[in-house]
Amino acid sequence: MITQSLHCPDCQGIDIVNNGKTRQRKQRYQCREQPCNGRTFILDYAYPGQSKKIKEQIVDMPINGSRIRDTARVLHLSTSTVIKELKKSKLNYNK
Ligand SMILES: [Zn+2]
Repeated sequence: MITQSLHCPDCQGIDIVNNGKTRQRKQRYQCREQPCNGRTFILDYAYPGQSKKIKEQIVDMPINGSRIRDTARVLHLSTSTVIKELKKSKLNYNK
């Protein structure tokens, strides 16, 4: 068991167990809460833009110039990261 207070990035649950290390030697965790059903995650992302949750937040934002800057500021990302994620998500929608 982990003694520090950890929250699952997806369901915010606290039933989290250690699940080994990644190749980059980052601690991997497994969420045992029902919604996640054993999903693993890493808290220490190399780049904030890699986080699934943040990507979802970016995608949820309306697409226009001032919104992109607001999004970047709120999520502590560069505008180029936000624009990159928006473009990626648009590509996915077109599939
Ligand atoms: Zn979870």
